[in-house]
Amino acid sequence: MEFSERYSRQILFQPVGPEGQKRLADARVAIVGCGATGSALASLLARAGVGYLRLIDRDYVEPSNLQRQVLFDEADAAESLPKAIAAARTIRGFNSEITVDQQVADLVPDNVTDLLGNVSLILDGTDNFETRYLVNDYAVSGKVPWIYAAGVGSYAVTMTILPEETACLACIFPDSPKGIVETCDTSGILNSAVNFVASIAAAEAMKLIVGASDRLRRTLLSWDVWSNQHAEVSAAHPRIDCRACQQHDFIHLAGEGRPHISMCGRNSVQIHERRRPIDFDEITRRLAPHGRVKHNEFVLKFWHDPYEMTLFPDGRAIIKGTSDTAIARSLYARYVGA
Ligand SMILES: [Zn+2]
Repeated sequence: MEFSERYSRQILFQPVGPEGQKRLADARVAIVGCGATGSALASLLARAGVGYLRLIDRDYVEPSNLQRQVLFDEADAAESLPKAIAAARTIRGFNSEITVDQQVADLVPDNVTDLLGNVSLILDGTDNFETRYLVNDYAVSGKVPWIYAAGVGSYAVTMTILPEETACLACIFPDSPKGIVETCDTSGILNSAVNFVASIAAAEAMKLIVGASDRLRRTLLSWDVWSNQHAEVSAAHPRIDCRACQQHDFIHLAGEGRPHISMCGRNSVQIHERRRPIDFDEITRRLAPHGRVKHNEFVLKFWHDPYEMTLFPDGRAIIKGTSDTAIARSLYARYVGA
């Protein structure tokens, strides 16, 4: 397919033009999290011709994702495909000219430099503030722009962060904001709310890439698509005593060991055992007497009533059916290894 034909309608848009389109092709962008927001961001930017996209996600596709996560289908959910793999496959189907670097991993202080290195823009598709603060510390310390985006219920919020220029996430939210601690599980989520905020963030990303920085929004924007209430709070300047961007105290980057974390309120616990490579065939034989086991190239699932364990080749596990880390740890020790 002719390059100029694929992007012809976008090139006709004068602020992009042929020069902007070349910049998009040369751009390197990381998207952290490939759920609803991340899927929409990846889809829009891949179609727009961003030349290199790194998709980082720790999770796998489930039927309840299909209502809003635009890159996945029923076959992905039936196979429990890791979201980064499924998303990359879908993207290659509609744009084979760009590079998609799929990373099935949980972003933690240990791997943040590897996973977010060598990109010029980071986009937020995650579902939790722990990861966002880590991204903020990394981006502010390395002077990489990033775009915060979040949604819950019918409400969505976004902010473009330009280190050394605008406020950062920690300027606005020194601690996890109470109101947004509601999760998709407790309050549900409308697909229109997340796709709305992803569209705004994707447009900001394009402005950054083509060099239209005077058009960037320097506010924290929130919008409720159901009540139609919306607000903008200035984020044009850093807060003078900000821990991150002013005092350069990058506590999240330094990281405390985070051996276990609870996931997005889903009654599940993640076990971080990254350097424990797992042989799926071998472990299938060991687990078979204790419950149903099935695996493909990317994930292994093990059902042991009332728990469901999903194992990744590097040893990471997600255990559903409990939010108690002690139970999850003991299941992991018993069936995978201490
Ligand atoms: Zn700050």
